[in-house]
Amino acid sequence: MGETVIPLADLRYVAQVPAIPEQLAPATGLLADRLGRPLRDLRISVTDRCNFRCSYCMPKEVFDRDYVFLPSSSLLSFEEITRLARVFVAHGVRKIRLTGGEPLLRRGLESLVEMLADIRSADGEELDITLTTNGSLLARKARALAAAGLKRVTVSLDALDDAVFRRMNDVDFPVGDVLAGIDAALEAGLGPVKVNMVVKRGTNDHEILPMARHFRGSGLVLRFIEYMDVGATNGWRMDEVLPSAQVLERLQPHWPLRPLEATTIGETAERWAYEDGAGEIGLISSVTQAFCRDCNRARLSTEGKLFLCLFAHQGYDLRALLRSGRTDDEITAALAGIWSDRQDRYSELRSAESASAGGSDTSTVARRVEMHYIGG
Ligand code: SAM
Ligand code: SF4
Ligand code: SF4
Repeated sequence: MGETVIPLADLRYVAQVPAIPEQLAPATGLLADRLGRPLRDLRISVTDRCNFRCSYCMPKEVFDRDYVFLPSSSLLSFEEITRLARVFVAHGVRKIRLTGGEPLLRRGLESLVEMLADIRSADGEELDITLTTNGSLLARKARALAAAGLKRVTVSLDALDDAVFRRMNDVDFPVGDVLAGIDAALEAGLGPVKVNMVVKRGTNDHEILPMARHFRGSGLVLRFIEYMDVGATNGWRMDEVLPSAQVLERLQPHWPLRPLEATTIGETAERWAYEDGAGEIGLISSVTQAFCRDCNRARLSTEGKLFLCLFAHQGYDLRALLRSGRTDDEITAALAGIWSDRQDRYSELRSAESASAGGSDTSTVARRVEMHYIGG
């Protein structure tokens, strides 16, 4: 009686409240971290909930009926998200990706899109606002999202075969509804639509060719993602990773491909074009080919914790600054301090480590942040 109950979910990941520097220098848009990397891309997780249970992200055995998701009082409000987004943009962010969990489960998401779409960079440019979704609710929401100012969507789709797809989402969701969502996105002008396929050897690698055949020549860009050791619950094993080089080896005999130049620095996907002009594919090789050197991405969790790397086990509690009445100038200066000190390059270090010692440091795995909480 009379005790303060701290919601369990709030304690899930360690976060420190950022220090406010004594000198409140204004943002210049030229912020760089310790490895010289600018801040350009902000991924915002708008919910930690999802209607799918993909085994590589939210395995059913862990995320079951007893799992405690964040209470709504923990979530950043749309106003709080927008306020933080302005600070990030002042420091150089040009692209915002909404993610989750399943972002389309967050009620009224189009209002957030509208608020974010009003933000301009210091030189008056519009932001590139995108969304990653499992596509299940896209058929219903694509038009409203486009009208609100969303520019593009990326849809995750791991198989075309209905039985394989239902098994992978583990909630028996039919593939036809996701394909209808993709069509709705195209009709609403949310293109070019990217399709993300996480490849798990032995689970859906036999779907590589059917997926490529289906999306070739459609104007959509299919991207093959190596199954990553993110989080601590998916029981990741290296032998379930199909290296991108092998994806390419499987495609080349059917449809020869040639590499394309990257269009932007820090791009996660390596781009390859079909020689016969049927469009392009992307290879995201986070396991076999680290791309930390140009990593300009920051991630904001559903409850306002800032993570500097997908594999970080500690965040910075920006919500605490918002809710303790700090001014925008103070938050701007705090963010400058955090980013300037960043030196994360997990994938690069893991590659070096497994080349020399064979494996990643298992002592830190248990503390890693989960993908559904931080967003992809
Ligand atoms: N629910 C939405 C979706 O699935 O698109 C957005 C959030 S989801 C965490 C973002 C992306 O992360 C998806 O494309 C998903 O396939 C990918 N992802 C999740 N866990 C992964 C893992 N272990 N390895 C590689 N990609 C993963
Ligand atoms: Fe949900 Fe996306 Fe994670 Fe699948 S990958 S469980 S759809 S958040
Ligand atoms: Fe960026 Fe971390 Fe991924 Fe490297 S491991 S690319 S630093 S998010």
